[in-house]
Amino acid sequence: MDIQRDYPEIADVTIIGGGPSGLAAAYYAGHREATVRIMDTLPELGGQVMAMYPEKHVYDVAGHPKIKASELIRLQCEQALQFDPEIVLEEDATALEYVDAPDEPSGQLIRIVGLAGRSYLTRTIIVTAGHGAFEPRKLPIEGIDGWNHRGLSYLVKRTADFANKKVVLVGGGDSALDWTLGLHDIAAAPLTLVHRRDRFRALEGSVTQMRNLAAHGKVNLMVPCEVTAIHGSDRIEGVTITNADDGVEHHEECDALVTLLGFKSALGSIGDWPIEFHSKKQVLVNPATMETSMPLVFAAGDVAGYENKITLITIGMGEAAIAANRAITVFRPEAKAQPKYSSE
Ligand SMILES: Cc1cc2nc3c(=O)[nH]c(=O)nc-3n(C[C@H](O)[C@H](O)[C@H](O)COP(=O)(O)OP(=O)(O)OC[C@H]3O[C@@H](n4cnc5c(N)ncnc54)[C@H](O)[C@@H]3O)c2cc1C
Repeated sequence: MDIQRDYPEIADVTIIGGGPSGLAAAYYAGHREATVRIMDTLPELGGQVMAMYPEKHVYDVAGHPKIKASELIRLQCEQALQFDPEIVLEEDATALEYVDAPDEPSGQLIRIVGLAGRSYLTRTIIVTAGHGAFEPRKLPIEGIDGWNHRGLSYLVKRTADFANKKVVLVGGGDSALDWTLGLHDIAAAPLTLVHRRDRFRALEGSVTQMRNLAAHGKVNLMVPCEVTAIHGSDRIEGVTITNADDGVEHHEECDALVTLLGFKSALGSIGDWPIEFHSKKQVLVNPATMETSMPLVFAAGDVAGYENKITLITIGMGEAAIAANRAITVFRPEAKAQPKYSSE
């Protein structure tokens, strides 16, 4: 990112959320020669894909029979950033205010107020905020946040980070099973999987594979058990695992504790905007135009709701194309929403 560049004070389009839908919107708005600003609360672009499953493969994005999730985002960034949008990371679009602007075709601009009070002027907004801010579900252990970056993690970003480590993985869903299978031959053997029940809520094939590994001593399966204490000084050195039936405690040496108990998400500040909602987690849009109930504000991707909505990357990309091309017509009323084809 070129931080020296002077960006216009008023962006034509501000995109709130830098996930797959936001990046697609940034591409289309740039393709229409609009000035674009992308804002995200996270420290990197890529939304859910980079935050939750960068190492998985995605099979259902058109044109990519199989693509690593992080590679999909790398390619989307290459495509979206070619028009040099302003990128504002670690910023929360907290509030929106309309500002009179008689020189603008719409007669208005929007001021976006960030978390620390910084303001950003824009002609239109495309909200691509997904499910809002993510927060992992945590083990009920007092002071657990103190172990962040000291051996405790809530997702697997790079398998290499766990090479030869004594890993204890907690959870009973797809992520826990996927990473047990994905890490058992990278981590020091055997990797320990802890789940509070003996039943798993995951793909049957993954459960069978995991049980086979456990039968051959390659996975140390501890059920029905819970991690009830974490020990160590600078970093995690071990955990207490308690049997949920008889309360018997077991000490397991470990230098990487990965708890995969799912994420809670909340729309956060967007929930306080004076905008009409389709459901608790989705802003209502007209799917033909992706307009919301707030003038100059469009939405696309997981955050945009309407009857029979399907939340998938490919749907968000399509909606982003509609939203971006519609947004152009707000500040360039003579322009058509239908773009010229990009092919040369
Ligand atoms: C484990 C898993 C596997 C998946 N696999 C697939 C798959 O195989 N195929 C598929 O099509 N889909 C899959 N999905 C779903 C897919 O990831 C989502 O549909 C997609 O990420 C939605 O993209 P988005 O850009 O709309 O939102 P997101 O990716 O959620 O991005 C939204 C961004 O907005 C930011 N944000 C939120 N609020 C604010 C705010 N107030 N200010 C600034 N920024 C804000 C967030 O930080 C986030 O970065 C999967 C999801 C998960 C969890």
